[in-house]
Amino acid sequence: MQRELYTEEHEDFRESVRAFLAKEVIPHHARWEQQGIVDRDAWLAAGRAGLLGLAVDEQYGGGGSPDFRFAAVLAEEFTRAGASGLAVGLHNDIIGPYLTGLATEEQKRRWLPGFCSGELISAIAMTEPDTGSDLQAIRTTAVDAGDHYVLNGSKTFISNGILADLVVVVAKTTEEGGAHGLSLLVVERGMPGFERGRNLDKIGQKAQDTAELFFQDVRVPKANLLGEENQGFLYLMRNLAQERLAIAVAAIAGAEFVLEETTAYVKQRTAFGRPLAKLQHVRFEIAELATECAVTRAFVDRCVLEHNRYSLTPVDASMAKWWATELQKRTADRCLQLHGGSGYMSDSAVARAFTDGRVQTIYGGTTEIMKEIVGRSLLG
Ligand SMILES: Cc1cc2nc3c(=O)[nH]c(=O)nc-3n(C[C@H](O)[C@H](O)[C@H](O)COP(=O)(O)OP(=O)(O)OC[C@H]3O[C@@H](n4cnc5c(N)ncnc54)[C@H](O)[C@@H]3O)c2cc1C
Repeated sequence: MQRELYTEEHEDFRESVRAFLAKEVIPHHARWEQQGIVDRDAWLAAGRAGLLGLAVDEQYGGGGSPDFRFAAVLAEEFTRAGASGLAVGLHNDIIGPYLTGLATEEQKRRWLPGFCSGELISAIAMTEPDTGSDLQAIRTTAVDAGDHYVLNGSKTFISNGILADLVVVVAKTTEEGGAHGLSLLVVERGMPGFERGRNLDKIGQKAQDTAELFFQDVRVPKANLLGEENQGFLYLMRNLAQERLAIAVAAIAGAEFVLEETTAYVKQRTAFGRPLAKLQHVRFEIAELATECAVTRAFVDRCVLEHNRYSLTPVDASMAKWWATELQKRTADRCLQLHGGSGYMSDSAVARAFTDGRVQTIYGGTTEIMKEIVGRSLLG
């Protein structure tokens, strides 16, 4: 079906993303998966290709376009390529808005050029060993000590955790913490007392460095506070809609990709003397999934346009996130079944879609938390 969302300019950009993936990512991905982390050089290559900081002002080296459709194209192509290691979407769409929206002019000049060139890789650290969904229960503390904060605590499951040079850390700046007592501090590589823990062993996204972070009496200058003190929870809530939309965009692209692969597979695989595609059960499976993908695509595309008009509501973003990621999970599972034993082999595209995509219903707010948000809006 013709998609109305994109113009020629977006399709040209898609070609450049594909060329980047073919040259700089796909040939290296298997090795990155083995080593559990991408090469730093890949980030610099992404910067040179103009893929970092799409929405950042050109004066800081960014793409200068707030049009989220470019971000959507990037997410679609990275997902289709199975390029789960190089977390460009996280960097651009999830951490980027904290820097462009909250940083002072001095902070922007300090961080944004490196953010756009790939010299400064970013991460955001909300989740802790004892709390994930419940952000108000964050225990990491940042105590005011005049011109700096003293940061203590630990974080876990942090994407880009090993490679990150800038980590937006969510910490308590009041005794109570919670909705009115959290702040966002940028912790930089090399600050004394900032240590990385394990690069965590996951069931998918093997080339992504997801790590533990530890902070022991880290002196974080006040000049590294993002936005206002104690407003951190508000900033998180404000930016989470874009994070959820970005995940939904990748999710529907992932579902479509695995369905395409499977449609091709069932046409050429034979059983009992004829192609699988001639069996009614298989035809119904493909028909159902194609319908679900088409319906989901329409909603997610609409959300992208709403977001471009600054009118995407947190509720719609939550609906898109839980629905599209659950569809991605279901589609990968059903398509794996249609591949039989070959679908269970680690190097098959469908197996990778199954394991890499599984986390999508968990991070960025779980399906259950998304339903809570939707339910609250309807029922109070
Ligand atoms: C690969 C990966 C990358 C990640 N990257 C990052 C990152 O870069 N930065 C970061 O800060 N975090 C990151 N996370 C953490 C992720 O955001 C959390 O895992 C997620 O928010 C869930 O938190 P939790 O793991 O503590 O689960 P919990 O909050 O303990 O939830 C466990 C279960 O209980 C359910 N549950 C909890 N509360 C409710 C409720 N009120 N109603 C109904 N059900 C509920 C959940 O839905 C879930 O099913 C990442 C996680 C993974 C796996």
